[in-house]
Amino acid sequence: MSQSCVVIGASHAAASFVTGLRQDGWEGRIQVIGDEAYIPYHRPPLSKALLAGEKTLEESYIRPLDIYTKANVEFLLGKRAEQIDRANKKITLADGSIVPYDKLALTVGSRVRKVNVPGHELDGIHYLRDFSDVTKIKSHIKAGGNAVIVGGGYIGLEAAAVLKKLGMKVIVLEMMDRVLQRVTAPEISEFYTRIHTEEGVQIRCKVGATGFEGKGKVERVICNDGTILAADLVIVGIGIIPNVEIAQAAGLKVENGIVVDDHARTSDPDIVAAGDCAYHYNAIYDRWLRLESVQNANDQARVAASTVAGLDKAYNALPWFWSDQYDLKLQIAGLNQGYEEVLVRGDRTGSRSFAAFYLKNNTVIAVDSVNRPAEFMVGKRLITEKTPIDRIKLVNEAVNVKELLGAKPAG
Ligand SMILES: Cc1cc2nc3c(=O)[nH]c(=O)nc-3n(C[C@H](O)[C@H](O)[C@H](O)COP(=O)(O)OP(=O)(O)OC[C@H]3O[C@@H](n4cnc5c(N)ncnc54)[C@H](O)[C@@H]3O)c2cc1C
Repeated sequence: MSQSCVVIGASHAAASFVTGLRQDGWEGRIQVIGDEAYIPYHRPPLSKALLAGEKTLEESYIRPLDIYTKANVEFLLGKRAEQIDRANKKITLADGSIVPYDKLALTVGSRVRKVNVPGHELDGIHYLRDFSDVTKIKSHIKAGGNAVIVGGGYIGLEAAAVLKKLGMKVIVLEMMDRVLQRVTAPEISEFYTRIHTEEGVQIRCKVGATGFEGKGKVERVICNDGTILAADLVIVGIGIIPNVEIAQAAGLKVENGIVVDDHARTSDPDIVAAGDCAYHYNAIYDRWLRLESVQNANDQARVAASTVAGLDKAYNALPWFWSDQYDLKLQIAGLNQGYEEVLVRGDRTGSRSFAAFYLKNNTVIAVDSVNRPAEFMVGKRLITEKTPIDRIKLVNEAVNVKELLGAKPAG
């Protein structure tokens, strides 16, 4: 009898998983349970083109509906999976219905971390995680109005750039010493602070929101440095939390995410997991990781599909990420944790294009490139090939960046 594969969560990882599963020859039933009302859509445009009103939701679908229809993938949308009964291989949904499975894929992603200060429930205070957030935020956008962004990470800075473009006065509050502190070197933080300032966005570091005030809707943000900021709209971007509870309650191994092996298998051989919710070992960096990126969701889910289809494919990809702010395309390859030195190619203090190479043991472990696609591509290879670096050539713009591949270190 034909087997049934059920997927919980209907986003990037799910979209990659279901099409991959069919490509790998799975002939059984495929059902996707998603608590949002839509088929999988690209999430990055939520803080970019969708927020700016330059794209519609339909234009942001990862694949058009007919691709899934042709692949005979069934969606149960607007439905939340509440419980997994591993002994009897069935899932209970919030509406009480039961969905049986033979194989199960958990692509449940993550949810936003919320602020819990007085006034946090006022209208006009929003997060950016799904399409419904964009719809709500848009109703508060007005040219000349005041927007306060709480959190100077990628999502906060991207939203700041869009709101500025839409004519709002924008202030970004960052609790730490600098924006993007968790993810980049000081050189990159300085660059983005300069750009936002030049664009007219105010960045205030070492400042946090301790409360929100207003009659019926937010009107003011109270800051821990004693300042009070006028606000018609607040967007909070202070990180995410992986959705591990359903796996934990089912007795699966969970640490900083649902623990999976290099085939995306959880501690139950009939259950795979992939994407933002999965905690895995990365051989390139010799570390356990939980990544929050489209690349990881796509690639890991593709491996999970092969595993369910009975093929033997291991996940060992180089992490990469991007962020769009104004006319700047930041492309990031690799992970910079533990770097010893940063070498910058290009003028980061006066221009809008450069690349920062993070070095450890004289090899590149990560690259942040701004409007420098060639450096990004070369950087990826330098990382995976562990090429010893010629520092002089690396920072010399007269040398074609491709010459760094296979370059012998000077001296
Ligand atoms: C505003 C924004 C901008 C971003 N920009 C970038 C970018 O520029 N580049 C980049 O690489 N990444 C970016 N990301 C991150 C990227 O979108 C995520 O890494 C990616 O969405 C992860 O995909 P996923 O499928 O693992 O999980 P998610 O996209 O989180 O999807 C999980 C889905 O499962 C659903 N779900 C959870 N539990 C259940 C349940 N019990 N029952 C039913 N459904 C459930 C959730 O509601 C959600 O729809 C951005 C994210 C956001 C929010």
